[in-house]
Amino acid sequence: MKRSRLDKPRCHCAVFGVYGDPQAAQVAYYGLLAQQHRGQEGSGIVTSEFDSAAQRQRFHVHKDFGLVDDVYKGTGILTDVLCGSMAIGHNRYSTAGASDNKANIQPFTVLYKGGNIAIAHNGNLTNFREIRRRLQNEGTIFQTTSDTEVILHLIARSKEREQIDQIRDALSQVRGAFSLVILTDSALIAARDHSGFRPLALGRKGKAFLVSSETVGFDIVDGEYVRDVQPGEMVIIDDKAHRAGQVTSIRIDDRPAIPHHCIFEYIYFSRPDSRVFGHSVDKVRRKLGKNLAKSQPVLPKDPADKLIVINVPDSSNTATMGYVQATNKEGGNAKLEIGLIRSHYIGRTFIQPGQDIRMNKVKTKFNTVKGVLKDNVVVIVDDSIVRGTTSRQLVQLVRQAGPKEVHFRVSSPPITHPCHYGMDFPTPKELIANQCDGDVKKIGEALGVDSLGYLSIEEMLASAPDENGENYCTACFSGRYPVPIDTNQKKEENEA
Ligand code: SF4
Repeated sequence: MKRSRLDKPRCHCAVFGVYGDPQAAQVAYYGLLAQQHRGQEGSGIVTSEFDSAAQRQRFHVHKDFGLVDDVYKGTGILTDVLCGSMAIGHNRYSTAGASDNKANIQPFTVLYKGGNIAIAHNGNLTNFREIRRRLQNEGTIFQTTSDTEVILHLIARSKEREQIDQIRDALSQVRGAFSLVILTDSALIAARDHSGFRPLALGRKGKAFLVSSETVGFDIVDGEYVRDVQPGEMVIIDDKAHRAGQVTSIRIDDRPAIPHHCIFEYIYFSRPDSRVFGHSVDKVRRKLGKNLAKSQPVLPKDPADKLIVINVPDSSNTATMGYVQATNKEGGNAKLEIGLIRSHYIGRTFIQPGQDIRMNKVKTKFNTVKGVLKDNVVVIVDDSIVRGTTSRQLVQLVRQAGPKEVHFRVSSPPITHPCHYGMDFPTPKELIANQCDGDVKKIGEALGVDSLGYLSIEEMLASAPDENGENYCTACFSGRYPVPIDTNQKKEENEA
């Protein structure tokens, strides 16, 4: 059996934290369930409970491969095993070579001189190989291949006396992208790197505090969004904070925070009903679609023809609505139609039974509504093109329905570079934009469309809330990496 994926970049994770809810594990479960799209290969929850017999806090852990619903379905896992009023949780995708190792499923837990500690991480550390090598040379034994484990070792080896200072000391040494939830015997800590690459939000549910990658994690438990954890900030939620209803905020170190939020969170990763980097994803995605319509209008061969604009469910739904709205506002004649139907029983990953069945993989996930497409000028709007394999197969599928013309519009620029901050892209040579030397006409020919149009980097940035675009990372489109990458790491990731 070969595990296969539709052609989209993958986010490594979602994190969730709870402090001060007697049913912390159940709240964390729902928070993770709402963020299933950020990681579908494994999930874990760690809770902390006071053991009155031993007069100390005890950690309970449950993690496994699979979807959130499957991982916690065993009798009593959430109610009898994962006891306590504090919890952190994690959904993950595997990184290269690590998908079959259960030890890589987070949260990671250790018992060290400072007590119990558990950590869950969304992002990717850019200097972890360098730190790992140094620690290994000094005798540290690693149990996983994950970059996150170095943070635990740095905490355990810190010379600082107070645990909070040990965590600060560790976080001040790592670089790259991290949105973290950390559980100690007495506190829930949320921390974010100085660029704020990945989202991390603070919320409340009654008197309890919540932390979540996306705000949909709050909505599902009737919690409310309070604010984002700021780049370079550490938020400490302990008994004092819980009683006062006010968290403690400190800086990781004195380095200035310069936001480089991942623009791809708006384009594809985050759910449109989330608020990410303080703004509605739906609103930004709609604007991406509107700007795409303005810069890349479709001109049918016969100007009298109406445009049938279809989305690729679900990630391009919102951008497609924006595209149609702006096209008609500019005097065009476009109609939004549901031309592609997605099977909801196939996730972002699925099992391909064998090489001998050489079928169009996209057919397992999508089907066309032929009456909508036949004899019409069809515009497919998608959020991104990576290898181009899925887009090519989608075009074939649409063509089988007998349209007059097929045009393709993309609400982001061509992807040309890998991400080193927590998204999993194919190697540069596998990206269709590189295979076609960045020539959009050539890419369109490879996809088999009548015309192809992308948003430019400038138009993409103009669609995001900070219109001068300085607050965003665009490295996978531009090759401009805002935080330097360890050269060996870069080489390994490019060749992986
Ligand atoms: S390289 Fe691309 S996917 Fe990675 S953080 Fe930057 S914008 Fe996001």
